[in-house]
Amino acid sequence: HQPIIAIDGPAGAGKSTVTRRVAEQLGLLYLDTGAMYRAVTWLVMQAKIPIEDQAKIGDLIKEVQLDLIPADSPELPTKVLINGQDVTQAIRTPEVTSQVSAIAAQAAVRQELVRLQKYFGARGGVIAEGRDIGTNVFPDAELKIFLTATVAERARRRTQDLKNLGHQSVDIEQLAQEIQKRDEQDSNRVIAPLKKADDAIEIITDGLTIEQVTQQIIDLYWR
Ligand code: C5P
Repeated sequence: HQPIIAIDGPAGAGKSTVTRRVAEQLGLLYLDTGAMYRAVTWLVMQAKIPIEDQAKIGDLIKEVQLDLIPADSPELPTKVLINGQDVTQAIRTPEVTSQVSAIAAQAAVRQELVRLQKYFGARGGVIAEGRDIGTNVFPDAELKIFLTATVAERARRRTQDLKNLGHQSVDIEQLAQEIQKRDEQDSNRVIAPLKKADDAIEIITDGLTIEQVTQQIIDLYWR
């Protein structure tokens, strides 16, 4: 069994970027579990199923075909296909982002996606990123990191990302509110809420660069 690294934390703490870099440097498979919840959310919206219709969503999830194709560079996101359709870009829209926590709180959805995640990690050699990796998906992971930053810092970074993508007017206050709302939903749900595992190492990334955080995790891995 090769080692598993679990990276958890709230929205916008820099988990994806850092996790992709650590994966590349250590030669581990990168598993973006948030992308899986996003893809299911996209499918539910596409099928025009009301977010609160747990029975219909439960039926949908039983039939779902989800493919994650690793990117060959740490700068690119994992390619995500749901029922054969490439949704890599479509799962990152504000519409999907605003609905995903309500979908991720549903028992049938979590049961199926966690099953797939465990299957993916069965042989080890994986770094997985999400909300419940260290607490629930891979409780025996060799290294657990809880990556956070203040809401203000996360909103600031997200604003910069959006500006880099060409968005002119970004409302940082509104972004901060959205980030906070998603954290509250993820932290207050009944099943596998966002929570630091007792044996996780917390890294607060305010004032740290991506390179510094990446290096800290690599040092902890070799320690
Ligand atoms: O990390 P990302 O922002 O892509 O995650 C999107 C959403 O998916 C989170 O806000 C959360 O509701 C859900 N999620 C989850 N458990 C995970 C990963 C993501 O509930 N392991």
